[in-house]
Amino acid sequence: MTVTRLLIIGPPGAGKGTQATRIAEHYGIPAISTGDIFRANIKGQTELGKQVQAIIESGELVPDSLTNEIVRDRLNQDDAVSGYLLDGYPRNVEQVQALEEMVQGDSLNAVLLLEADTDEVVARLLKRAELEGRADDTEEVIRHRQDVYAEQTLPLVELFEERGILVRVNGLGEIDEVAQRISDGLTAKLGR
Ligand code: AMP
Repeated sequence: MTVTRLLIIGPPGAGKGTQATRIAEHYGIPAISTGDIFRANIKGQTELGKQVQAIIESGELVPDSLTNEIVRDRLNQDDAVSGYLLDGYPRNVEQVQALEEMVQGDSLNAVLLLEADTDEVVARLLKRAELEGRADDTEEVIRHRQDVYAEQTLPLVELFEERGILVRVNGLGEIDEVAQRISDGLTAKLGR
């Protein structure tokens, strides 16, 4: 069995979720989004949801201990044996280390960086906030989430580049256009 372990990384608003669904379908693996897991728990008013709601609405990161535990549980589910596409995790250096301990040598095959200009993604998110009324999408929070990304997540890019697994893709443009670039980039890196 071919196992495909991927990560998609990029600023909030770059369109990671949309593209993640397509990539995961293509490789026959589950897309695992920590943001989606947290939002589902907030919606369902679970204990976890109550714990993380205020943090998420402020644009800060949920504590690593909690986030790592959720990912560990998810990766232990049956559908992850064929691999997975992580979306939104790991998001800082500590989480990269935690993931490495969890998977014990089953390292990522490729990391897709969806690049997008900050002003462009902020504009997109403001528009989405207007349409959907998301609680974490006030302008102040949107900008804060971009800062958190730049400070905590962007440094990971260099690390994956050094490992030779980074695939850079321009995230601006039509969804299909970006999907094609991703497909070309991943095929070149993975050979499949
Ligand atoms: P996202 O949909 O990936 O942008 O995630 C929405 C929010 O969930 C983030 O702004 C964080 O508050 C929280 N979150 C998602 N993934 C993580 C993570 N890996 N570590 C910490 N917090 C996270």
